[in-house]
Parts: sequence; C-alpha cells; structure tokens
Amino acid sequence: MSDLSAARHAMVESQLRARGITDPRVLDAMLRVPREEFVPEGYRRYAYDDGPLPIGNGQTISQPYVVAVMLEALQLSGTEKVLEIGTGSGYVTALLGELAAEVFSIERYADLAENAWHVLAHLGYSNVRVITGDGTLGLPAAAPFDAILVSAAAYGVPRALLEQLAEGGRMMIPVGTHDAQQLQLIRMVGGQPVVSVREAVRFVPLIQDVSA
Ligand code: SAH
Repeated sequence: MSDLSAARHAMVESQLRARGITDPRVLDAMLRVPREEFVPEGYRRYAYDDGPLPIGNGQTISQPYVVAVMLEALQLSGTEKVLEIGTGSGYVTALLGELAAEVFSIERYADLAENAWHVLAHLGYSNVRVITGDGTLGLPAAAPFDAILVSAAAYGVPRALLEQLAEGGRMMIPVGTHDAQQLQLIRMVGGQPVVSVREAVRFVPLIQDVSA
C-alpha cells in the first residue's frame, strides 16, 4: 500500500468512523476516491490532513469529515440525480459520482471547473457533468433533483434550489454569516421544505449576487 493510500485508510478510520460516520456506502466511497488527485501538487502529502486545503482562486477543498457528514445526510442509494453547487476541486463531485446515478455540478470560476473536469475525466467518472455558472440559479433544464449539496455558505437558501428539489428530495446547505454557519438538512415533504439544523461549520461564501 502506498503512503497516500495508507493515509486515506487512516483518515476514514480516525476522522470518519471514530467520529460517528456509519453509512457503509459513504465510508467505501471515501476509501476509493483519491483526494490527493484533487489538491494542488505541492499539497499532496497533506491530502489526508483533518481540514480544508487551498485550491486556488481563494477557495478550498472541504474537510473530509464535513464532506462525510453532508453525504451521509443525503442518504443516497445509487439511483439519484444530484445537483452540486461549488465544484471547487471536484473531490465531492467524484464522491457523488460514486454514490448516485447522475451528477450535475456548477462552479462559478471557469478555471476551477475546467481543472475539476480534467481530474474527474482522468479518473474515469462518466456520470458527472461540470458546468461553469451561477449555482444559486440551480439548473432548471435538468431539474428536479433527488439531492442537492451546496459546498459554499449562503445567507439564506436560494429559492431556485428549493424549487428544483424533488418531492422526497434532500438538500444539505451551510447557512449563516461569514464566520458563523450551520449545516441545514432540508427535506421536501408534501411540497414543503422541512428544515433540521445540524453541525456548525465554516465554508467559503456562496456568491449570491453574481447575476445582480
Ligand atoms: N466541495 C468543494 C468545495 C469548494 S469551495 C471541494 O471540496 O473542492 C466552494 C466553491 O463554491 C468554490 O470553488 C467557489 O468558487 C464556489 N462558488 C461560490 N459561489 C458560487 C456560485 N454562486 N455558483 C457556483 N459556484 C460557487
């Protein structure tokens, strides 16, 4: 086993399983996806550290534990059509590609989107699509979605995303200000969003006035 592969196994045990992540599909996916491929060359040896890492454009690849919490809450079985907002490095996109049937991921920075697309293609993910654009508008052409994962912090839940969440669908989104956010799990039940407030987190901001 290579050092990075050993580090990936150790990450899954000590950062995920030991902290209460139990969904076997999430744990398996995180054992399979090589996070080192999604970080800049100079950070590869830190790929399994317990935190975010810089990926350029002032953005970060999310902490593995927070990613696992979000993925577990979405309860994906493998049949779902999923929307991700904030592709960033593409790491979560790859995990969603492992866990769902079809993934659409929107990133506002074209260079990050392009880089993520190259890594995902190189790793053989054929069920994921990366789109450059404003994720707060969602992707009406491909809606509704069984699950939506937002990787950047919003002051409020964008209306378009609620409108594009299927009946019975789940959304995970960090909501709050620059330095105080909480993950929200939103389930669409009988056409109404049902919100549960989860862990405190810290994400880069979701840019909500891109088209203003
Ligand atoms: N899950 C990603 C997280 C990247 S950080 C990873 O682990 O790599 C969040 C990303 O959201 C950034 O790349 C940022 O550019 C993007 N973002 C912020 N506002 C956005 C918007 N309105 N539409 C699409 N992407 C957005």
